[in-house]
Amino acid sequence: MNDPRKRTLRVILFLIAILLLYRVLKEDEERLQMTTVTGQTMGTIGYNIKYLQLNPVNFKGSIDSLLRAFNQSLSTYIPDSEISRLNRSDTLVFESALFYPILHASRQVFDETGGAFDPTIGPLVNIWGFGPDKTIQVPDSSTVQSLLTKVGFDLIDFNQSFATKRNGAILDFGAIAKGYAIDRVANFLERKGVENYMVEIGGEVRAKGQNDKGEIWSIGVEDPTVEDNEQKLLAIVKLDEKSIATSGNYRNYYQRDGRTYAHILDPRTGYNSLHRLLSASVFTEECMMADAYATAFMVMGLELTKTFLDKNSDVEAILIYADEDNELRSFVSEGIAEDVIMNKAL
Ligand code: AMP
Ligand code: MG
Repeated sequence: MNDPRKRTLRVILFLIAILLLYRVLKEDEERLQMTTVTGQTMGTIGYNIKYLQLNPVNFKGSIDSLLRAFNQSLSTYIPDSEISRLNRSDTLVFESALFYPILHASRQVFDETGGAFDPTIGPLVNIWGFGPDKTIQVPDSSTVQSLLTKVGFDLIDFNQSFATKRNGAILDFGAIAKGYAIDRVANFLERKGVENYMVEIGGEVRAKGQNDKGEIWSIGVEDPTVEDNEQKLLAIVKLDEKSIATSGNYRNYYQRDGRTYAHILDPRTGYNSLHRLLSASVFTEECMMADAYATAFMVMGLELTKTFLDKNSDVEAILIYADEDNELRSFVSEGIAEDVIMNKAL
């Protein structure tokens, strides 16, 4: 027992044990912790936000007030929102910093898609029974033609300070606002120094970095052919410093006299555009752009969308479509292919 070598060995072992314990405790302290914030916005649309921090702070209050300010500017359901006032009067001097960027992005996607995306589509959406008034009455062609005079993004003029409109056009950002709200929340988190997050609002997502398991965030893409209550994932996608937005005619449609009427309309004809393309999941950096393109692609159909993707290297997509034999098929653009795992071979 008095052997000095043994004693030294014991001391050394003791010191090593202390050192190891210290490292374990320190690592634990430095491990990023995940916070999950959930809630509702834009009426009843759910949101789900996850982010990692060393010292977790719950941002629910700030996120909810950010989203309230968002709706107070851009929701057509709020009578005194900026957008509602513009829709009633024909001019608006912007009060928030929110209006100009969404008009600017809308202009870009409207131009790039030859008018397939058009936020002045509202009057037609209403007449087809997909607006606030859900009474379904298939309109006759003269009604559609007369409403077309009010539709067209060229009827809107704007600069960084104000917007004006003509012909009784009205604006509705329903096809782009969810993505924009996601970008605002993501920017807020980044301003707070958060580097790992996943922001989801109503199915659209933007993600950066890793989750609490140290993996890149993965997002599921739903099968457009299954019913609402039995969502099946068709693919899993890894999402880092990217957004995904999906549009489809598989949820919001009705049938009359053997015909299907769906909520995405071709702004140039006034009729819904049903193609073999069943859903378009679009990937861009900003979720606002992905959201707008996804809607546009449903109007453009499979072939025009593929051509568009060929020409635009900053836009990727997973397209789900029915082939000539009505078999489900998928097209995955090259730039996203290595991040996609298909659940079914299509
Ligand atoms: P999303 O789910 O993002 O594809 O948006 C679809 C919603 O946008 C529809 O329910 C309509 O309110 C509106 N919408 C329909 N067709 C268009 C279109 N071609 N361009 C812009 N918005 C549209
Ligand atoms: Mg959209």
